[in-house]
Amino acid sequence: MSDSQDRTLGMGSRITRRDFLNGVALTVGTAILPSPLFAWDVQSDPEKAADYYPPALTGLRGSHPGSFEVAHSLRDGTFWDDAGKPLSTGESYDLVVVGGGISGLSAALFFRKAAGSQTKILLLDNHDDFGGHAKRNEFQVGDQFRLGFGGTFSIESPAPYSAVAKGLIEELGIDVGSYPKYVDKKLYSSLGLRPSIFFDKETFGADRTVISPLPHGGGESEDASDTTAETLKKFLAEAPLSAVSRADCQRLLAGNQDYLPGLSAEEKKDRLARMSYNSFLTDLVKVSPEVVALLQPLPQPLFGVGFDAVSAQDAWGLGAPGFDAMSLGTAPGKGMNRDAIPNEEAEKYFFHFPDGNATIARLMVRKLIPDAIPGKSASDVVLARANYAKLDESASPVRIRLNSTVVRVNHLGDPGSATQVEVTYARGGKVYTVKAGHAILACWNMVIPYLCEELPDLQKEALASAAKVPLLYTNVALKNWTAFQKIGANSIYAPGAYHPYLNLDLPVSIGGYECAKKPDEPILLHMVRTPCRPGKPARDQHRLGRMELFNTTFETLERKIREQLARMLVPGGFDPARDIAAITVNRWPHGYAYEYSSLWDKFWLEGGTLPCEVARKPFGRLAIANSDAGAYAYTDEAINQAWRAVEEITKT
Ligand SMILES: Cc1cc2nc3c(=O)[nH]c(=O)nc-3n(C[C@H](O)[C@H](O)[C@H](O)COP(=O)(O)OP(=O)(O)OC[C@H]3O[C@@H](n4cnc5c(N)ncnc54)[C@H](O)[C@@H]3O)c2cc1C
Repeated sequence: MSDSQDRTLGMGSRITRRDFLNGVALTVGTAILPSPLFAWDVQSDPEKAADYYPPALTGLRGSHPGSFEVAHSLRDGTFWDDAGKPLSTGESYDLVVVGGGISGLSAALFFRKAAGSQTKILLLDNHDDFGGHAKRNEFQVGDQFRLGFGGTFSIESPAPYSAVAKGLIEELGIDVGSYPKYVDKKLYSSLGLRPSIFFDKETFGADRTVISPLPHGGGESEDASDTTAETLKKFLAEAPLSAVSRADCQRLLAGNQDYLPGLSAEEKKDRLARMSYNSFLTDLVKVSPEVVALLQPLPQPLFGVGFDAVSAQDAWGLGAPGFDAMSLGTAPGKGMNRDAIPNEEAEKYFFHFPDGNATIARLMVRKLIPDAIPGKSASDVVLARANYAKLDESASPVRIRLNSTVVRVNHLGDPGSATQVEVTYARGGKVYTVKAGHAILACWNMVIPYLCEELPDLQKEALASAAKVPLLYTNVALKNWTAFQKIGANSIYAPGAYHPYLNLDLPVSIGGYECAKKPDEPILLHMVRTPCRPGKPARDQHRLGRMELFNTTFETLERKIREQLARMLVPGGFDPARDIAAITVNRWPHGYAYEYSSLWDKFWLEGGTLPCEVARKPFGRLAIANSDAGAYAYTDEAINQAWRAVEEITKT
């Protein structure tokens, strides 16, 4: 890339020192540090500094540089070489929770309820912010404040929230039914903007944006997709597809053929459960490779893989085209992924805060440590500024210690009879220990075998099998969205692009926060990439994608984002150097909990004990929470698993 091309893209034009430190320099720096331990130069408690405010950091966020190096050195077996003897803090708690995500925070709330308000609890998390995947991104664009979600987008779940999860949401003051009051569902359609598809010339022979006739496939727009006959006609006339592909599209979307004639509904579903949707398209519907390429990334935001690795039965459940005349009935088939089973009650239970479920995490922190986040309601929390200095104070019964990676959890004595556990963690280049009556591991399943040597081997194996799904959730702060207005799109599905999904922010105003309402106002553009490797088994795709994310610098990501936007929005007069105000890439190499699939997990189709059931067994004074424990990548599951873990330890 030449300097002049970089200048045209606006590369580095607003890379502040903070962006640089956060995104670029540390990525490079950590690669050459002799010790994997991350040391602070200046002070041992960075959270106490007046300007410590992670939500406002831009650049590389999510699993940011500095958050994962210790855990990786533990995995590689090198951590203890450099660690030195752990220092005792002298602290003793009733409960230590490993992981400050929704599950860890819920566990602290449930435990306090069971054990009393003066119960001493310590939460440890390796990130510089609490909430885990529920991450808040803030931007100041001129005089406008913009709030975005860096991870967990909304209260939503394919199956209804349990009584426990609903109860906690209500206790936090969130009235899910009031959501329509805050969202302007018609904003984009009233301005003539529609969900659209960007065809790229490398995949389809020409760069062109066309209104989408597809059922919406995983984006987050509230504007309904446009599946009318007229849209389809226009799409077929304008899309840069061959005549054969156009005819195939028409045939597929018309859906008037049974591709498995002569079989009962159950037999058909069983066949569909064992083939990918791409095989269904290629072998049964017999569409062209171009049509397969058009649809391939549709399920990525949901599963982290494309239709090469999603069963045809799940595709049917998700509303993918081709099944209308197959008489499959309405009952879910055996082995369907829970995400693919439609449920009306669950669909209605939806709430999106401008920072996603970071609001839930912030409400939980406010309940645990009232001094840390001012205010009283679920709407005033939206603009409340968290005081990170208050999170870890000795006078408080509940403490949250950030930037602290747990490296060992063991019983003090025989696990069957011990009365205490010891938790060892690395922070700022030093290693510390605390003692506790119990520990709840609300971190990721795959980390736990490295922390708890005492666990039985079978349990460790089951824990290790929970391969997380990698994702990039990118927020681009734009000075205006006139280019989107000119091309007539509010969300763009771009099957051949680096980020295949782009959405203008969901227009939600709440608690004094006002979203962008006019195209000349600043807005956040949300972009999603799942770094998968089509053609490989799902777990391999996740593993390779995770490596890709850890090995890609912010500079590379920034260039790809600028190039993609420049190219897609050219007809709208977009200038990346002029129109982009800031970029935050939330990198989640360990993203969604792995969910079982009939294609890759025999036991899911054929029955038997699930690995997550073996993995989450309590052990001595330890219990295991987090969404991996239910193999279900949703906030309600993170809460349900926390509830179970607390029940287990409070009943021993
Ligand atoms: C990009 C993205 C979007 C999502 N969108 C949605 C959505 O819209 N709705 C929904 O319901 N769900 C969504 N999810 C799923 C989300 O994972 C769950 O909703 C929920 O937030 C998971 O909470 P958790 O506490 O189980 O895990 P996490 O949020 O991952 O929290 C676990 C924490 O433990 C920490 N940890 C790990 N190891 C250690 C260690 N050794 N020491 C200290 N700390 C450690 C981790 O770093 C992390 O901070 C999304 C997930 C991702 C990644």
